Amino acid sequence: MKIIQIPLLRDNYGYLLVCEKTQQAAIVDPSEAEPVLRRIEQEAVMPIAILNTHHHRDHTGGNEGLLARHRLKVYGHKSDQARIFGMTHGVDEGDEIQLGELKGKVFFIPGHTTGHVAYLFDNNLFCGDTLFTAGCGRIFEGTPEQMHGSLKKLMALADDVKVYCGHEYTESNLRFAMTVEPKNPQLVARFERVQGLRARGMSTVPATLAEEKQTNPFLRWDSSEIQASVKSAKPDTLLNPVAIFGAVRKMKDAF
Ligand SMILES: [Zn+2]
Ligand SMILES: [Zn+2]
Repeated sequence: MKIIQIPLLRDNYGYLLVCEKTQQAAIVDPSEAEPVLRRIEQEAVMPIAILNTHHHRDHTGGNEGLLARHRLKVYGHKSDQARIFGMTHGVDEGDEIQLGELKGKVFFIPGHTTGHVAYLFDNNLFCGDTLFTAGCGRIFEGTPEQMHGSLKKLMALADDVKVYCGHEYTESNLRFAMTVEPKNPQLVARFERVQGLRARGMSTVPATLAEEKQTNPFLRWDSSEIQASVKSAKPDTLLNPVAIFGAVRKMKDAF
């Protein structure tokens, strides 16, 4: 399997996922069509599907332009038929997707929106705006309980799973993380490494799930340092995972 990362708009990432045996390809979250169409041509692959993680325009804006040029299946959560342009295949938790000889699995992960899904091909996770490298998406349509449940679901995957998220947000996410868990040595090391990469204009995506578990403040409700930071910023917060997660999310919203 080949994964090609395509920078789109200001800080979005779309992905071209290619079955190297058949040259069939799927486009994950095309924010816009033109750069994706150019890449399809350069790589000489045969696009057969769009995989949308959720309905936001910066993840679906290219659907129309791609469909004008190619015959494509369009996947998204089954509840988003009316919100995703050209959707042909509504999917849900546990569904399988065939791409040439590759098989993908669907996870339903609401919270950022009510119809958010992730796609897992081997150990490559395309999770849109739910789990970010060193962060998580804002809770626009769902509840903290839902978002926490969705992140927990993703955390249960293998440590070597690679997180391909929808935006290049790692550096600013880590800047926030450093305010709530500054004594975490793995976090400090990651922040330095990521700053170095960004200074050279390089991508910091993907990261492994292991790295996320060690340094992402939205997955670290068990960390005593994070709990202490939450308690000092929001003294009324209960000490349970959902409440800690929700408080960290609120602190980031105001950061
Ligand atoms: Zn979004
Ligand atoms: Zn987005």
